[in-house]
This record gives sequence, C-alpha cells and structure tokens, in this order.
Amino acid sequence: MTIKADVMVVTAHPDDAEFAVAGTVARWTREGKCVVYVVCTNGDKGTSDPEVKPEDLAAMREREQQAAASLLGVRDVVFLRYPDQGLEDTPQFRKEIVRMIRVYRPDTVVTADPYRRYIWHRDHRISGQVTLDAVFPYARDHLAYPDLLQEGIMPHKVREMLFWASEEVNYRSDITGTFDIKIAALRCHASQIEAHYSPEWAERLKGRYRAMAEGEDFELAEAFHRVEILR
Ligand SMILES: [Zn+2]
Repeated sequence: MTIKADVMVVTAHPDDAEFAVAGTVARWTREGKCVVYVVCTNGDKGTSDPEVKPEDLAAMREREQQAAASLLGVRDVVFLRYPDQGLEDTPQFRKEIVRMIRVYRPDTVVTADPYRRYIWHRDHRISGQVTLDAVFPYARDHLAYPDLLQEGIMPHKVREMLFWASEEVNYRSDITGTFDIKIAALRCHASQIEAHYSPEWAERLKGRYRAMAEGEDFELAEAFHRVEILR
C-alpha cells in the first residue's frame, strides 16, 4: 500500500520537473535515493501547432514524461490528468496530493513556488499552493481525512520542501555532474523542446545554471527556496 520514497516532485505539467529540478533528481538517484513524480495536468494545451489534437498531445506528453523520468532513474510517475490550464485549489485536488504524500511518504517535497509575483503560470501557482497546504498540515494530521485512515493510508510528516522558480533563493543544488543528463531528459520532451533545441540553446541554459551557482564552490546549480518543516 505504501512505498517509502525519499523525494516527491509535484509538477503542474509534463516537462516542468526537467526544467526545474532534473539535475538535482539525477544526482539524488545516483546517490541511491528513491524519487517519484506527481504530474497534475495532462499538458494538453502545450502546442502552437493548430493541427495537433489535444488528446493526442496529452498522450504524447505522458510518453515523453515517462521517458525523461526513466532516464533520470525516477521510480514512479503518477499522472493526475487534470486539464492543462485547469487546476483549481479544490478540496478534491488537495486530497489527491495528500493521498500521494501519504502513500509515498517522502522526506522532501519539491514543487513550484506559489509566491512568485506577476507573470507566473496559474497551474504552477496553484499546484505549488495546494502542495504546500497538503504537506502542512493536511498530510500530517490524522483527523484531516478519516476516510484515508480507513483505507490504511496513514498520516505522514514531510521534513523539507524545495520551491523552484523562487524569487527568494536560499538553497543551491550542485548539478555540475548531471547537467548533461538534464539536457538529455529535457530532450525527451520532443513536443516542447526539439523546435528550439540547438547546442547554443543548451549553452545558454548552462549559463543560467552557472549564474545560479555564483558564490558556491561548484560550477552549475539549480536554485530553490528551501523550507524545513519543524512541527
Ligand atoms: Zn509548467
């Protein structure tokens, strides 16, 4: 019924995890950590091609996400299949995230920073907010969902959260040794990446991760706002 994961990554869309945290995920799995993904929407609006049917796009993006996750050594990918641009902060969505946290029992949960200002994808804002709320206090409190207890799904305390795309970075993760596999994982998302891909694009991305590592004793970093959950 339950599986002990070290890390759960909750994303709005297929490909968010690869942009945000794939270098860190690859390092973690190389260190032997168990990482799982929860992908909230099916990404069926992520195209500018008027010929592509949304249902075909959604199916393609699941395959791409699965391929990227396999390459990175991610153990499971759970697809919640909400419509792209359709996430809302509902009791049902929150409960689904709580269920995943309680089933996989991660120490670390990684998601989008809901408090990024102004231009920010609504699905990112809402998935980040709902995940934060699900971690604390809903996954922790046994009285939050008595029906989950009856299913044998017990409360769980997450120890830390990492938020990507944060305007308040306080944690930089070394991806110097995993940048290349991050690029390879990004390229699994062919429907999103291949039209822009070039070695120069990868170099520009590298420049961004080099800037994020400024002040550290390693070359390339993914950057997060890290919160420890003490209670
Ligand atoms: Zn996204």
